[in-house]
Amino acid sequence: MKICTILGARPQFIKACSLTRKIREYKLKGMDIEEVIIHTGQHYDDEMSKVFFDEMGIPLPNYYLNFGNLSHGAMTGRMIEEIEKILTDYQPDWVLVYGDTNSTLAGAIAASKLNIKIAHVEAGLRSNNNAMPEETNRIITDRISNILFCPTEKSITNLKNEGVEFWSDTKHFLSGDIMLESTNHFKNLALKPDNVLIKKNFILTTVHRAENTNDPKKLSNIFDALKQISKENQVILPLHPRTNNIIKKNNINTEGITLIPPVGYLNMTWLLSNCSVVMTDSGGLQKEAYFHKKPCLTLREETEWSELVESGVNILSGWRKSDILNSFKKVLIIPQNNFSKQLYGDGNCSAFILEKLRNY
Ligand code: UDP
Repeated sequence: MKICTILGARPQFIKACSLTRKIREYKLKGMDIEEVIIHTGQHYDDEMSKVFFDEMGIPLPNYYLNFGNLSHGAMTGRMIEEIEKILTDYQPDWVLVYGDTNSTLAGAIAASKLNIKIAHVEAGLRSNNNAMPEETNRIITDRISNILFCPTEKSITNLKNEGVEFWSDTKHFLSGDIMLESTNHFKNLALKPDNVLIKKNFILTTVHRAENTNDPKKLSNIFDALKQISKENQVILPLHPRTNNIIKKNNINTEGITLIPPVGYLNMTWLLSNCSVVMTDSGGLQKEAYFHKKPCLTLREETEWSELVESGVNILSGWRKSDILNSFKKVLIIPQNNFSKQLYGDGNCSAFILEKLRNY
């Protein structure tokens, strides 16, 4: 079985490493399976990309395309064109795409036009906010994929609401969440970040989503709230390059917040295990907060991981300073027994996925 995996962005490296490890394990056992990796270059600097390949043992990409830093249309279009050439040459049995980025969509479209089967990992998620570029990527990728690996019951329900049972070329399965497997694997390898003084009960924060960073008013509100919170608790914020640029351009004041460069996954895992609360607009980090049993305040109006909100471990605050500060008070009193449910499966997602691909 020949698999072509499309990667391009940080969360995809974290998701893909578990499947990549499983493929190599099966290959060593003599199974007829091989993987070729295309890195689209969507996240292009070392802190957002290379460190993940190094730390997580992902084999170096067989193909590296250099399509970061372009507008959505230009990026997606160029990716489709180049991925098509590689697929035509390699002729895989499966194209494997993860999550909701432009690389996911480009990989799926290129494969679809060549009649190569597509597997979408982390399928069926919906934020129901069509203004988010990620939502378009999710909907289209799901609709043209042949096999959909859904992390949660909710993602299955979303697909059923869109009529998945009538999509003649598509099978869907509840697979559990691939990120849980990565968290479980790296938990014991966590590394404390160097060069930063870390205080007890710190708050781990990330902000990078276009819906917050594209509007300086929203970003200023978020940073004003973080500044206020940092008077009582240290706020550690690994800064996404996009956010950094916008802060500088708009002179947004970040005084009192511990800003650090983006960190690798082993550092991130340490920060997640040792923080008191997570505040984020990231999708992946909301789930990881849950895996580490940390309350999460989500700096968005909605989330594709709505089961976290329903379980009472995640509070949506939006971007207004006063709403963030009010939600922060609530997040501090979330009880630990709200974390007792197994919302994301049993942590054996990669074996399940490979079994379904082999027996399709
Ligand atoms: N992450 C990381 N280092 C950082 C910030 C995030 O390793 O400095 C990890 C984080 O733990 C999560 C993933 O990157 O697994 C989330 O990626 P991102 O926030 O870029 O995207 P999203 O989840 O919103 O798609």
